[in-house]
Amino acid sequence: MGRSSNDIREMFLKFFESKGHTRVASSSLIPLDDPTLLFTNAGMNQFKDCFLGVEKRAYTRAVSSQKCVRAGGKHNDLENVGYTARHHTFFEMLGNFSFGDYFKKDAIIYAWEFLTSPLWLGLPKERLWVTVYATDDEAYELWNKEIGIPAERLVRIGDNKGAPYASDNFWAMGDTGPCGPCTEIFYDHGEGIAGGPPGSPDEDGDRYIEIWNNVFMQFNRTADGELHPLPAPSVDTGMGLERISAVMQHVHSNYEIDLFQHLIDAAAQVTGCADKENKSLRVIADHIRSCSFLIADGATPSNEGRGYVLRRIIRRAIRHGYMLGCKDVFFHKLVPALVKEMGAAYPELVSGQARIERALKLEEEQFARTLEQGMKLLDNAIAELKDKTLPGDVVFKLYDTYGFPVDLTNDIARERGLTLDMKGYEACMKEQRERSQSASQFGVDYTKALKVDAETHFHGYDTLQHRGHVMSLLKEGK
Ligand code: ATP
Ligand code: MG
Ligand code: MG
Ligand code: MG
Repeated sequence: MGRSSNDIREMFLKFFESKGHTRVASSSLIPLDDPTLLFTNAGMNQFKDCFLGVEKRAYTRAVSSQKCVRAGGKHNDLENVGYTARHHTFFEMLGNFSFGDYFKKDAIIYAWEFLTSPLWLGLPKERLWVTVYATDDEAYELWNKEIGIPAERLVRIGDNKGAPYASDNFWAMGDTGPCGPCTEIFYDHGEGIAGGPPGSPDEDGDRYIEIWNNVFMQFNRTADGELHPLPAPSVDTGMGLERISAVMQHVHSNYEIDLFQHLIDAAAQVTGCADKENKSLRVIADHIRSCSFLIADGATPSNEGRGYVLRRIIRRAIRHGYMLGCKDVFFHKLVPALVKEMGAAYPELVSGQARIERALKLEEEQFARTLEQGMKLLDNAIAELKDKTLPGDVVFKLYDTYGFPVDLTNDIARERGLTLDMKGYEACMKEQRERSQSASQFGVDYTKALKVDAETHFHGYDTLQHRGHVMSLLKEGK
């Protein structure tokens, strides 16, 4: 089977400790004092102020394994879960950091040593591809001359792309904050898997999988969109533990690694689904991690903000259970398996176990009251469709009466090749709001509930706009 995920996490931390890095615990998924961030989405979040130069720590090199959730905000993978081999809502990001200490050269040398040295991961070099930012000749030369990556496997990622998840070698944690050009390492999982190399038109397939991003932190972006050079060039890296585990365990999909197989086994048992390849089992195994970790870190399901994102993920998981024929509550029964798998590395799961189970069970019991009826309404509406669009009033009724978040309805529609009439839905919502303004109101605040959906909108356009500016700053050597 290869090395366990728990071993790989520990090897990474040890490797960078041996290079003078201080081991720092993961921060909470709920960002402290950072209203620009929905959930912690990268290892660098807790070090934001160190990059900005406003906080000094006792160390200038750090290493961590950070809990991340990407289910809203700038980095949102909720819609990818169940569709790609490599995306989760919750994942662990292994990262090494330099705060004005080393820069491009050492970062690249360390990354390569960890991946390819027989003393560490010992990966075959010819399977690794590298991308650099289009104008970053320095990084290109380092990879090509110092490390010896041939030009055939070394790709400059230009700024001619706007697709939602096409490669982008300028990394930013959010709309504001530290950012910079990056260099990424990909692993070729081999022929027979659909997808082209990075930078090619079909790069979004799952053959060449991005495993590690090394960001050269150089700028701070302020709310006006301007980029300001940081006080000192720094390094921020992130490698998905689940992706590198898949490579080390000689499996293609993250869902086939040890950690996920144990969760999928548990999900198979509680749902009674015997087919371990079933997509719903994968989604449930993914969602139990994000939901449990979010609750452990203090989130509670609610109708607004972070709590509403959590509620949406829970309801998606419950709907997948329903698809597998679960009539009874099941989701919270997966918590013990998760605690067994990850409790040693994250003790908050152990101390929070009872609370997590209670919160999930309560949410399940609530949604169970309307799920079946809602599904019937939806199935009837679909049976009557004349085209491929689900009418807005159906989407609204599901939301308003049956507690189906719009993204849940959209998820079901997508499985059946349908889209939603969002204009019609918004019109119903507007009417509802006007009605509730005139009557006395209790219950859901629709404006806030909606805001979270608004936050998850496509960001490709502003990315494109700022790129021209970034290119010129980099050319000027700033
Ligand atoms: P992708 O292009 O595959 O969506 P990304 O470029 O958005 O990944 P980064 O922001 O560069 O990812 O994050 C650093 C690393 O974290 C990635 O190289 C990958 O190994 C891991 N990672 C990112 N998103 C996810 C996810 N949703 N699930 C699991 N691992 C992830
Ligand atoms: Mg991504
Ligand atoms: Mg990427
Ligand atoms: Mg990346």
